Amino acid sequence: SMSGAARADTLDGQSALLAIEKYRALLAAAASISKDEALALLDQSIAEARQDSRKATFIFEEDDSDETSSNSVEANAQFPPLMEEIRPTLERTIEELTIDHMKKVQLLPGDLIRLLNRGIVKHRDLESLLPDYETAVAVRRAFVEQNDKQSLAYLPHKGYDYPIAKDACCENMVGFMTIPVGVAGPLQINGGTPLMIPMATTEGALIASTNRGCSAIMRSGGVTTSVREVGMTRAPVVQFERPDDAFRLQQWLKVPENYDKMKSEFEAKSRFAKMEDIDIYIDGRLAHLRFRGKTGDAMGMNMISKATSDAMKHLQSTFQSAMKVVALSGNMCTDKKAANINWIKGRGRSAVAECVLPAAVVSKVLKTTPAAMAEAARAKFDSGSTLAGTIGGANAQAANVVAAIFIATGQDPAQVVSSSMCRTTLEVTSEGSLRASVTMPCIECGTVGGGTILPAQKQLLKLLKVAGPSPVDKAGTNANTLAEIIAATVLAGELSLMAALCTDDLVKSHLKLNRSRLNLEEQVSSSQPIIQLNRPQQQLNTIRGKSSEHTIKVNCSSIL
Ligand code: ADP
Repeated sequence: SMSGAARADTLDGQSALLAIEKYRALLAAAASISKDEALALLDQSIAEARQDSRKATFIFEEDDSDETSSNSVEANAQFPPLMEEIRPTLERTIEELTIDHMKKVQLLPGDLIRLLNRGIVKHRDLESLLPDYETAVAVRRAFVEQNDKQSLAYLPHKGYDYPIAKDACCENMVGFMTIPVGVAGPLQINGGTPLMIPMATTEGALIASTNRGCSAIMRSGGVTTSVREVGMTRAPVVQFERPDDAFRLQQWLKVPENYDKMKSEFEAKSRFAKMEDIDIYIDGRLAHLRFRGKTGDAMGMNMISKATSDAMKHLQSTFQSAMKVVALSGNMCTDKKAANINWIKGRGRSAVAECVLPAAVVSKVLKTTPAAMAEAARAKFDSGSTLAGTIGGANAQAANVVAAIFIATGQDPAQVVSSSMCRTTLEVTSEGSLRASVTMPCIECGTVGGGTILPAQKQLLKLLKVAGPSPVDKAGTNANTLAEIIAATVLAGELSLMAALCTDDLVKSHLKLNRSRLNLEEQVSSSQPIIQLNRPQQQLNTIRGKSSEHTIKVNCSSIL
């Protein structure tokens, strides 16, 4: 029985695994087998595996003490193969075996790539198998690059805080996306310290445009905002035998002790989740229960989902088999889908931002008049958005600003769907000034949890003085302030774009700042080798050389 251990010991890990696989196949093919025949098959497997394998990479660590082996072999005489050291491994899956061995040995990236290719190691295991996360990322990149024959050289991967991102923000990491970040501002909100607003975008002209809006607002005394926490919502859908039972549930929830019990279950496991109400919507035998709860400084989707799930356990135990929970999220929530319910009832934080620009500022900074802007607003928001049937779409470019701030500050970009719902108004006051406002009822943002934990995002939240949790007695203040900052910046973007429409400068600035000349040149070279590190910079230099004019008179976005 020593022979098995000796054989395995002389193999590198890759070959040992191969040998075991081959051995299993040979055993499976043989109808009946003697001990000697089995040993011969093992030798054959090892020889073949050794041939297949190019270089020794790690040592297959078998326990080669054979104290108990002969007894065990005899006791299990019907099991053909023999060595106590190999036998247990044969009874387990190759995956388990491999992971066990990898934990004991230092693997080389080449081994792991081969094991990934054969499906023995999963991408999700790399971080636990390697000494540090950066190496795991490097192995995964090499795997992708080899298999897809596509370089990832432009996707940075060094110097990132992967342990923070893993298990919270991203899986199977191969690097981090670069998106240019600019600042618009200063912007003074409610008389506070003027802020520079970080925006991550690839839409040329967006920040320049927002910046112009900020400038107009600053010359007019700043922006006034107000905010309230509506609460995050999660709406499970349940099904009853008969529609009548759904109404029974509605009645049941109106009984104070039932409602209170639901609320205490909802709040039991979180310091911050506070249930505000449960709305019921009945659809035949289905009932949607829209739970709404405050979440402190978290955007709160995880928090409220968990709290809702806890409350639903109580409901299930009460209604037993009469009620079936079909889905914890039944889409009346509504998360990440354009929905009237969010627009009407609000979700997350609801904010309004307002400013009054004197006609002189409108003329000097925005190059137009309050009357022209009000007229454009009527035609565009009151007529156009209505005719188009938008949901919360009576605005110029709210989504542009929301998306850019969301990405810069670690919000969930998919929540731009509701968070950018916005009604913009532009009116001429009795003094001939321009009164402008944005109303945004469902800004889903937070300053703790999600992507806000990532170092760069957190730093940009710090720039806005809203990073992390608020003081305990004021939970939610930071997230509320962030919502106000977002609304105020949206207002700046609205003013500038509407002015550009009035002066018909939209397309001009779009072409100047946004149209991609690089892409056009890139196409020509698509058949050339992928890595040409210097090319983009050279192209930029060429373009810069051609255009000596750096002054941008009118800045605005390409999206109306
Ligand atoms: P989300 O629901 O937005 O995805 P999570 O609930 O996953 O966020 O993350 C919020 C976490 O931060 C919770 O564990 C919560 O207890 C904790 N936390 C600490 N301080 C606060 C605060 N001021 N407001 C909200 N949550 C906080």
